[in-house]
Amino acid sequence: MTIFKKIIDHEIPADIVYEDDQCLAFRDISPQAPTHILVIPKKEITAVDALTEEDQMLVGHIFLVIQKIAKDEGLTDGFRVVTNNGQNACQTVPHLHFHLLGGRPFGWPPG
Ligand code: AMP
Repeated sequence: MTIFKKIIDHEIPADIVYEDDQCLAFRDISPQAPTHILVIPKKEITAVDALTEEDQMLVGHIFLVIQKIAKDEGLTDGFRVVTNNGQNACQTVPHLHFHLLGGRPFGWPPG
């Protein structure tokens, strides 16, 4: 069981900013920007490479939730959505998650 599953089950605390039957959003414990929120499905999916066709609606829903949270956080000057998949991308928690980052300018290309 991952730490994110424990957060979904409310077994360990998190600063939750949004929750519905399909997904959960909470502030990253080690923020890399003034706004740094993780949006995760409640379904246990390890990463993008484990998605299947049955997850299409779920992923679309998550992006609309990200849009809503970005609005709620006042990220009118732009924001970044990142998902790390696997070792080379520095994924540390094997439960699909989308980082919503905002509140400062970002560089490109990413590190
Ligand atoms: P990644 O490196 O893409 O797998 O991102 C995992 C993220 O989860 C990192 O940004 C961590 O800071 C964050 N994280 C790990 N444990 C927790 C936790 N208990 N509560 C909130 N964020 C966490």
